[in-house]
Amino acid sequence: MPTFARTHVQPDHITDLTAGFLTREVAPGVFVLTNGNYQSLFFTTGEGVVLVDAPEPLVRFIEPAVADVTDEPITTLVYSHGHSDHIGGAHLVGSGDLEIIAEKSTAEFVESKQDPRRPVPTWTFETDQTIRKGFRTFQLIREGFHSAEGDVVVYLPDEKVMVAIDLIGPGWVPLHAFDITENMYRYLGAFDRLLAYDFDAFISGHTADVARRYDVEITEEYTFDVYETVKRIHGELNFEELLAEDRDNEQAGIKKIIDVTTERATEELKSRWLDGPMKGVELWTESHSLAMVLYVRWTD
Ligand SMILES: [Zn+2]
Repeated sequence: MPTFARTHVQPDHITDLTAGFLTREVAPGVFVLTNGNYQSLFFTTGEGVVLVDAPEPLVRFIEPAVADVTDEPITTLVYSHGHSDHIGGAHLVGSGDLEIIAEKSTAEFVESKQDPRRPVPTWTFETDQTIRKGFRTFQLIREGFHSAEGDVVVYLPDEKVMVAIDLIGPGWVPLHAFDITENMYRYLGAFDRLLAYDFDAFISGHTADVARRYDVEITEEYTFDVYETVKRIHGELNFEELLAEDRDNEQAGIKKIIDVTTERATEELKSRWLDGPMKGVELWTESHSLAMVLYVRWTD
């Protein structure tokens, strides 16, 4: 049984988005920008602002938000991954000599898309990097929990800030099929890998809220409850019996195994999490069960 604090309330929950966007300083000179749905991170270095991601719906707020807190121009943009919803505003950022950093496989993906909204990176890397720029140190950690082309986690060790896009949404269970992960194996392992770092603020890429360690931990607990539940229910099924019902149509039997496991797991998980600390169970838990059935039966 999961154990969680039902009374948990995010202490810095944001509700005032009357200006259309919000900027919040999570550490000195380190800012989260949100429109209530998407998030970017930017920080000063003394030698120009580094920006992580440029979601199209957020991009018109980026320059004013930066100018509001510093005289430094935006000189560097880091792509967390190649998906258009998080970097589709990149063509509108900075002046022509913007440095764009991405992992090599993400850069190759972006280059192949030939999408004018997503400029080709100017600097790529293949192994984890520690970068010093001005007075700031930040790490670029290669991951793969979400995008098949790779994800980059940005970590500021001195400020205890981590940016890991599309793993969790604070206050919510993950979006459809675990945030549409393209690698369930890497997704399951990402929680422990990231929690091994010392961070206070966790920038998830979505919602108006800054996540904390609790949000990563409770989402890990939920995710592994889905995994264990699906694995047990799938293991208890009488395959002979289910397949025998459609002896002339083997694929109908396989579909039945998927459907029955998904349905039973969803019902059981809802009984535990529907009144829990995260919203969205009625929306997404069925998709989580289905995604996990496919993983458990064919990959695990
Ligand atoms: Zn994505």
